[in-house]
Amino acid sequence: MGELRGVGIGLGVAQGPIARMAEPLPAPKDEKSERSLDDETARVKDAVAAVARELEERGAQAGGAARDVLEAQAMMAEDPSLEAEVATRLQAGKTGEFAVHDAFASFRDQLSAMGGYLGERAADLDDVAQRVIANLRGVPAPGVPEPGHPFVLVAKDLAPADTALLDLDMVLALVTSEGGPTSHTAILAREKSIVAVVGVTDATGLADGDTVIVDAAKGVVTTDPTDDELAQAQNRADERKSAASAPLTPGALSDGTAIPLLANLGKPEAAAQAVELGAEGVGLFRTEFLFLSSSQAPTVEQQRESYTKLLQAFPGQKVVVRALDAGADKPLAFLNDAHEENPALGLRGLRALRASEDILREQLTALAEADAATDADLWVMAPMVSTVEETEYFVALAREYGIKTAGVMVEVPSSALLADHVLKVADFASIGTNDLTQYTLAADRLLGSVSSFQDPWHPAVLRLIAETGQAGQANGKPVGICGEAAADPLLAVVLVGLGATSLSMAPTALADVRATLLDYSLDDARRIAQAALAATDAASARSAAQKAAGV
Ligand code: PEP
Ligand code: MG
Repeated sequence: MGELRGVGIGLGVAQGPIARMAEPLPAPKDEKSERSLDDETARVKDAVAAVARELEERGAQAGGAARDVLEAQAMMAEDPSLEAEVATRLQAGKTGEFAVHDAFASFRDQLSAMGGYLGERAADLDDVAQRVIANLRGVPAPGVPEPGHPFVLVAKDLAPADTALLDLDMVLALVTSEGGPTSHTAILAREKSIVAVVGVTDATGLADGDTVIVDAAKGVVTTDPTDDELAQAQNRADERKSAASAPLTPGALSDGTAIPLLANLGKPEAAAQAVELGAEGVGLFRTEFLFLSSSQAPTVEQQRESYTKLLQAFPGQKVVVRALDAGADKPLAFLNDAHEENPALGLRGLRALRASEDILREQLTALAEADAATDADLWVMAPMVSTVEETEYFVALAREYGIKTAGVMVEVPSSALLADHVLKVADFASIGTNDLTQYTLAADRLLGSVSSFQDPWHPAVLRLIAETGQAGQANGKPVGICGEAAADPLLAVVLVGLGATSLSMAPTALADVRATLLDYSLDDARRIAQAALAATDAASARSAAQKAAGV
């Protein structure tokens, strides 16, 4: 047996034989075209248009997040500056195939160099180039294999066009050798609940037909598994299946303590699925996701419309909306487009909003108007707050607009350490474990080379959460969790044991967490949390919690 490590997406586990994605088309040679410039230009134009239309069609067929991704890819194909780059090469007498390959490759390198969210779009650009070149050559674009039986798909990285139309009856799991937790493969796998482990550098050695276990919860691909391991994996898969079909009861511990289970959303259209999966409200609405591609600040009307749609989906329920969180992994040009050496430590979150207070005021106006027009219980919070003074600033400003419940995110160690003061001012705190882990361990959450530090089980992170939980109890203020950590069922129990009063997560994670909470009382959760807190590193915290929880 061997273990290959990567980044697990979700918590699923699956097993089966491998089918590898076909290798990319060979790169076109740098050759002179025998056609006239007009003919070559027309060929390329037709090929690009055909690919763009095909991507749009695939998007329309797939719907949901896939449609947005594929439409963006179609726009990429027809981007005027790319067209100009291709034209320059055609004018130099190159073939259409080479001109497309070379122009797209130079754009790809520029995107990759940017890193983070934009860097991960580089794979999308590669896919568009491959499709255009295949069209020019009159051959099929490389795509998902069809071995005729269910399989574990192994690929370098999946293009959105492939992920969008995956036949979920056939694809048991995804393993990619490239791509990080924010790649499109990861985003779409999460949305479709596909078991996936991405960034498995050693996946290139996996061969067609070999049986593997793909364990997303551990981020591990097991090669040559024993019968015992296969049986255990099957048991876990069956347990998850029955948890997913369990009744949608409100989140609670075995002693009846209520722990509301809320959804993390990025657009109002995702509300319906969250409700279907039993979300009791929204714990984090990431407003910046609505405007990631805008160069200008959204208008009050645009925002009011989106927020109203969101609030309407949750009548009488709590909806926590976060003010625009610009910077680092979520660039918003209209809030901060300055080059910063360390953007995660720069003018981001509330700092950027304060520097453009009119934008923050407009957002609060839109939120207050949407609130007045609907029946949801609106809570508003500020991202990346690092001082008590910032808390006072935000809460006072929100009150000016009649926002009844104004809170802050605890994502920076300073806020956790001063949580007793922060929670005297704020109505609530919501702990963003993604950033809190990044800042506690000084490890960029977008950087693969330090991803092993990005583990919210680390006792240093747990201590900061405990500090915040205690401050919440002392002040009688709710403390929610809205980072990815809340989606890990056993860690969710630990978080409750540390004082979290609600948990918010990607809706597809709700069923697992709901089922696990029901296995433990509040006393159990506190005991398990203490075991994790006493550890010296993330791995031993996790195993101490497992031992205390009897799993
Ligand atoms: C977090 O940092 O944990 C969080 C929930 O915010 P985001 O992931 O959007 O930065
Ligand atoms: Mg954050």
